[in-house]
Amino acid sequence: MEECRRGRVYIVGAGPGDPELITVKGLRLIQQADVIVYDRLVAKELLNRARPGAELIYAGKKPGAHTMTQEEINKLLLEKACEGKTVVRLHGGDPYVFGRGEEECIYLRDHGVECEVVPGLTSAIAGAAYAGIPVTSRGIASSFAVATGREAPNKDRKMVHYGRIMKSVDTLVVVMGVGNLENIVKEMVEEGIDPDLPVAIVEKATTPEQRVVTGKLRDIVEKAREAGVQPPALIIFGRTVELRDRLWRLS
Ligand code: SAH
Repeated sequence: MEECRRGRVYIVGAGPGDPELITVKGLRLIQQADVIVYDRLVAKELLNRARPGAELIYAGKKPGAHTMTQEEINKLLLEKACEGKTVVRLHGGDPYVFGRGEEECIYLRDHGVECEVVPGLTSAIAGAAYAGIPVTSRGIASSFAVATGREAPNKDRKMVHYGRIMKSVDTLVVVMGVGNLENIVKEMVEEGIDPDLPVAIVEKATTPEQRVVTGKLRDIVEKAREAGVQPPALIIFGRTVELRDRLWRLS
């Protein structure tokens, strides 16, 4: 275990998709790394910035078909650090926004390995921005929340109440929600949320394939179905969605 202290792990946020949206620090660490363990949603162009000979390991998680379990990823990071390597664990968006970066860092520290977290631009905010949707706007939205659309299957208690959240905040961004859209909308309607609430779905935000579907709470399920919306996508509920008409060309 003594030897492990030689290596170091950086848990780095790669940003939402556009490779230019990584931080200067994140890019520098990619260029210096001996080993890069990366997620599915990380821009592949960023991996081209690794130094020649760097080891690139895919730890991607496809919905339902896990390439590596979280425990396997934790062990891999530990093992590489113990070899004295400089390791970058590259997450899509921000490592602490539904990324489990904290679990990785706690695991490494528990095993005596130095670990540092470098934040990234979360898709929840930057992806909305690229679709021309600000999460707050003076006089329109003074608060926002980010929630998962899919709760961990082992949870015995429901933790996300979409209707209640929507009653408390002006803008709600749901990630990992495409498969559960109908249910989320139903919960909001049952809670008394206005059926005319504007909703946008942003698919593959900030990438060349970005696609946006807009509607209201009352018709978004149908519109999403017609458009054949696929993950990764953000579902954005709130009145700032309407600003998109005037903002989207800027992004
Ligand atoms: N840590 C990431 C989120 C991980 S959860 C972040 O901060 O962005 C994965 C979910 O994030 C996806 O299912 C999708 O809902 C959302 N997501 C990530 N990248 C996205 C993108 N480029 N476009 C739309 N949604 C994205």
